[in-house]
Amino acid sequence: MPRFELPEKRSIPFSKPFIDNSEIDAVCDVIKSGWLTSGQKVRAFEEAFSRFVGCRFAIAVNSCTSALHLSLEAIGVKRGDRIITSPMTFAATAEVIRYFDAIPVFIDIEENTLNIDVTKLESFLRKNYRKGNPFRAIIPVHYAGLPCEMDDILDLAKKYNLCVIEDAAHAFPAFYKGRMIGTIGDMTCFSFYATKNITTGEGGMVTTRREDWADRIRLMSLHGLSKSAWRRYTANGDWYYEIIAPGYKYNLTDIAAAIGLAQMKKVEKMWSRRIEIAQKYTKAFQQMDGIEPVHARWVVDPKSIRETAYKGKKTMHSWHLYVIKIDKKYLTLSRDEFIEKMKDYGIGTSVHFIPLHLHPYYRKNYNYIPQDFPVATKAYENIVSLPIYPSMNDEDVDYVINVVSCILRSYKR
Ligand SMILES: *Cc1c(COP(=O)(O)O)cnc(C)c1O
Repeated sequence: MPRFELPEKRSIPFSKPFIDNSEIDAVCDVIKSGWLTSGQKVRAFEEAFSRFVGCRFAIAVNSCTSALHLSLEAIGVKRGDRIITSPMTFAATAEVIRYFDAIPVFIDIEENTLNIDVTKLESFLRKNYRKGNPFRAIIPVHYAGLPCEMDDILDLAKKYNLCVIEDAAHAFPAFYKGRMIGTIGDMTCFSFYATKNITTGEGGMVTTRREDWADRIRLMSLHGLSKSAWRRYTANGDWYYEIIAPGYKYNLTDIAAAIGLAQMKKVEKMWSRRIEIAQKYTKAFQQMDGIEPVHARWVVDPKSIRETAYKGKKTMHSWHLYVIKIDKKYLTLSRDEFIEKMKDYGIGTSVHFIPLHLHPYYRKNYNYIPQDFPVATKAYENIVSLPIYPSMNDEDVDYVINVVSCILRSYKR
């Protein structure tokens, strides 16, 4: 390396938030206002978010992890309950199940989408469902921002009496057959972590159409204090509150919400740039031997997102992640070596995810072996996530493409 001419070395981090003066000014205004914790900005952020998604209730919290935890709490998950999810996800999705001493049940993924395999889900439920149903809920994870097969999941949930709590940490904004993610399942949990499609530094949101769940989530997100508690320090607030339940401290701050409000104004601009980058990558990578872009089928024309999403009843990828698979048939270098080479050329990459069943905690406590979820295990060995974010310019994207091409040609089998 390199036997092929490369452009001048650049530095492309794996991820970068899309921040400008609008976020900086909004945060300054909040700090100057003297009201730093949950207040009007959080309310405004929830309203902006629910208007955009078209959901009935949106409750802001301090992370997607707490959103998932509160969703499971709202449906009354108990010790020993079984909660179904995908092994191809982040720690958060399954750890919240363990908070209740409930049992995570993994169903393997589909090779093409890396989303939960609904055929396997169906046969699992058919074989394992019994009266006195220990299966309480399913948490579909919209991997990389590609929505799961929600029609099938909803059908199975109805048949087997399961709640559907979506892990949409990657899926804002995204559409499933013309319906926006956040309006489909019983509850949908979003993340505003620093790397996600919109960020508040740390933050999350739950959407639902059920008022009783929305009320319960709001209650439990702030110590289980009675409804008007968040107003109790404002001029017209009330000093009196009641503890209804031993809740949690999961509220979002106005400082974070101000960042979120500024980000909401740029959602479509940021999304269309992600779509553009995905399209550019896909066009280039489809010509190359040795790598396969996993979600190539879901690339759309970035100029027509509104028509495609809103009118075409289409499934629309959020392009939170751009994932490729390394094909060892064509290459003499491994996935790990590919990542090292990318790093040598200044390009940050990542792997999403190390499947949960391969981690010591789940191996030890549930006796999992890699072959228990062979599709996830095999995918894990070959996947790499490439940089994709709105502030990448065309030269950055071309640089990534050129470096990938150069590595592939240098290590051709
Ligand atoms: C980021 C992420 C989460 C957790 O989000 P936080 O806001 O950091 O709690 C959950 N699930 C998936 C799939 C994620 O990528």
